[in-house]
Amino acid sequence: MIFKKDLPEKTMDKKFRVFATCDIGEAIDVLRKRGYEVEVYPHPEAPPKSLILDKVKSGVDGLITTLRDPIDAEVFEAGKGKLKVVAQIAVGFDNINRADANRYKIPFTHTADVLTEATAEFAFFMMGTLARKMWTAEHLTREHQWGYWHPYLPFLGDEVTGKTVAVIGTGRIGLAFIKKSVGFDMNVLCYDPAYENQAFVRTIQEIHDLRHARGLVKDKAWIKYVPFEEALRGADFVSVHVPLLRAGESATPTYHLFNEKTLSLMKSTAYLVNTSRGPVVDEAALALALRENWIAGAALDVYEQEPLPADSPLRDPAIADRCRLMPHFASAARITRLSTDPDKGMAGRCAQGLIDVLEGNYGGDVTKMPYVVNKEGFGK
Ligand code: NAD
Repeated sequence: MIFKKDLPEKTMDKKFRVFATCDIGEAIDVLRKRGYEVEVYPHPEAPPKSLILDKVKSGVDGLITTLRDPIDAEVFEAGKGKLKVVAQIAVGFDNINRADANRYKIPFTHTADVLTEATAEFAFFMMGTLARKMWTAEHLTREHQWGYWHPYLPFLGDEVTGKTVAVIGTGRIGLAFIKKSVGFDMNVLCYDPAYENQAFVRTIQEIHDLRHARGLVKDKAWIKYVPFEEALRGADFVSVHVPLLRAGESATPTYHLFNEKTLSLMKSTAYLVNTSRGPVVDEAALALALRENWIAGAALDVYEQEPLPADSPLRDPAIADRCRLMPHFASAARITRLSTDPDKGMAGRCAQGLIDVLEGNYGGDVTKMPYVVNKEGFGK
């Protein structure tokens, strides 16, 4: 069991009670070994909100939550005077009402960083799978429809190498995605309204320059920040790495950032990849764009409603060859999800975030705790 050196395991004087809305593996044992009383919701589906409310009313000190659990004023009110922390096993926290958490002075934690590379590589693989038609090609083989080798029949895919990718949102995962695109000599159009990481862009350009100077590539690749519309117009691929921000939550909300208007700006040969959050893409508009060939294809890991409803227009067999549908799976790699090491796994980081708050690490100063999101709710 690896845990932060400066936070050794200890037997608690006080027994903390925790309700976990899902099993997070061995990290639960880590908590129990520290003397915590942890109840785990035993089913794979999310518990009903009424059950979360009951558990919180019963006086738990901490909640372990997933992105499936709505955590808002009703929950904080139910836990008033007792609930001390919500530890979310995800980097995204759009299911937690931040303003409500601040009003009730409840810190909530997330698991940033440890899922960055896993999510970025999955987005990259989705891009390749989509463009090279791997799903359709495998079906051809499995369904005994592969009858010949032919220069262009029954279909061709598009190369990724040397193409231009627009990265929408250059935070942790967006930057990790760009790092991976370097090996494929892709040009990159970056867009992020909050912060332009020009130092990172310079570093990537230096690597491209070196690859060119040493004769590894014929054409020198480039990278630059551009406005949103320019990124969409110029890209062969668009990969989305933004948080879900609804109107009122940001000056540049991301809800339905991809809609009829913005999808129509993309090249008809371009592909959209979304591993961020479902509501960032208007699915009705995307299905229309795919049916009418405004764009060449889309690969999605996240949906407006999860799991994807049976009657979703994205399931239309007419667009199946250019629409890849993954089950919110981008961070679903063994170490990333379950390692109890807070520097490697979401489970470990989730447990550590909970421990930090309940055990008053960092001198009990919430604003110094690395995994707490809503530090602004606790300033002096
Ligand atoms: P991050 O906060 O480091 O980066 C998000 C970036 O998006 C920030 O730089 C921010 O400035 C930018 N942004 C905000 N509004 C924008 C807008 N309107 N247009 C363009 N950019 C905007 O977060 P991260 O760790 O990179 O994660 C990004 C998101 O990915 C998470 O919030 C989560 O929803 C999603 N995610 C999904 C999975 C999955 O399994 N599919 C896994 C991990 C993360």
